[in-house]
Amino acid sequence: MKEKRAIIHLDLDTFFVSVERLLNSELQHRPLIVGGLGDRGVVAACSYETRKFGVHSGMAMKIARQLCPQAVVIKGDSSTYTKYSHQVSEIIKSRVPSFEKASIDEFYADLSGMDKFFGTYKFATELRQAIIRESGLPISFGLSQNKVVSKIATGEAKPNNQKFIEEGAEKSFLAPLSVRKIPLIGSKTFQTLINLGVSDIGTIQQMPVEMLEGVLGKNGRTIWKRANGIDDSPIIPFHERKSLSAERTFHKDTTNMVQLQATLVAMTENLAYQLRRGNKLTATVSVKIRYSDFQTYTKQAKIAYTSADHILIPKIEELFRQLYDRRLLIRLIGVKFSGLVGGNYQINLFDDSESMLNLYHSMDKIRNRFGDHSVIRAATLGGTSVGRMHNPFNGEPPILHAHRQQ
Ligand SMILES: [Mg+2]
Repeated sequence: MKEKRAIIHLDLDTFFVSVERLLNSELQHRPLIVGGLGDRGVVAACSYETRKFGVHSGMAMKIARQLCPQAVVIKGDSSTYTKYSHQVSEIIKSRVPSFEKASIDEFYADLSGMDKFFGTYKFATELRQAIIRESGLPISFGLSQNKVVSKIATGEAKPNNQKFIEEGAEKSFLAPLSVRKIPLIGSKTFQTLINLGVSDIGTIQQMPVEMLEGVLGKNGRTIWKRANGIDDSPIIPFHERKSLSAERTFHKDTTNMVQLQATLVAMTENLAYQLRRGNKLTATVSVKIRYSDFQTYTKQAKIAYTSADHILIPKIEELFRQLYDRRLLIRLIGVKFSGLVGGNYQINLFDDSESMLNLYHSMDKIRNRFGDHSVIRAATLGGTSVGRMHNPFNGEPPILHAHRQQ
C-alpha cells in the first residue's frame, strides 16, 4: 500500500504589512502600502484594504497612490522582515524536525506519521496557533497529501485561516478554481488557456493529457497533473538548501589590491546574477582567503535577505577588508552565499527605484541571452589582468564558474 503523505504549506499573510502593523498597532485595519517612497518607488506589499482599489505589488508607487490616496505608505525595511522571517523559522523548527523554507514567508513540512499520535490536522492547527501566539503575525495553512494542493489550499484559506483537503477530495476542491491558481501558470500560459476557452481547473481535468501537452509543450503534462491534484515533489529540508560559491586561485600569488578587488566584485556579481536567475535570496555571505603558506581563513556575515549587487558587493568588500590582515601573498579568494531561500526583487524594493530594477532586468536579460560574462560592471574592468573575460595575453585562467552545492 502506498504510504499516505501529509504535507502542510504555511504562508504568512501580507507579511511586510503584518510586521508593520505589529510594530505600530495604529496601522491595524487601515489601507497600508509598503514600498519605495521616491518618485520612482515600487509597491513591495499592500494590505487587503488597498487591493479592491486595484493596488498590487510590483506596481509603481505613483499609480498606487493615485488609485488609493487614503492609504498609509511606509518605506519597508528588509532587515526587520528578515528578523521576523528567522523568528518564524525557529518556531517551526522547534516543532517540526524537517521543513522546507520556500521563501521568506512560506514553509512546507512533511507531517506524515505524526497522525499516529496527534492527528495531522490537529498538529497543524496547533502549529499555526503557536506561530501566531509567539510571533504575533497572522499565518494561513493548507494541508493535503502534496505540496501543490496544499499551496493552493493556503491561497483559498487566506487571510488568517486554514484549510484541510482530505485524501480523495483533491479534484473536487480544485475543479471550480481558476486555472491561474495552479503554480507554474504565468500570465502567458493563462492567456493561452483563456483563448482556448479553458478558465477553470475542472476543464483541464476533463482534457486528455496529450491535448494539453500539444498546446503547452513540456509544461502541459505537469500542469495537467497539478490540475488533477497529482504531485509527488519532496520537501527539501532547510539545512540542505543549496549554497552558491565561487573561488579563484591565482596563477601567481598576489597582493595586488586592484586585482583582488576586481576578482571579488566579478565573483559576487556572477553569484548575485545566479541568485536572481534562480529566484533566490541569500541571508549569509562569506569570504575566504588562502595565503601563500596555505593557511585559510573565512569570515561570514548575516545580512538581510537580498539578491542585489549593490547591496552584496559592498558587504563582500567589507568582509575582505576585515579578513585580509596578514600582509602576505594571497593564493586564493572565494565568495559564498548561503541560507538561500526563494524570493525575488520584492525584498529590495524599498530603496530601489524603478530605474534600478529596470537596470537589473535588462542586465539579466542580456546575460540570459549571451551568457554570464556578457555584462561587465565598470569596476570589474579596473584590474589589468583580471576581467570578466579571459585575457589571452596574460596567461591567467578565467574566473572560475560558480558551482552549486547540495
Ligand atoms: Mg505570504
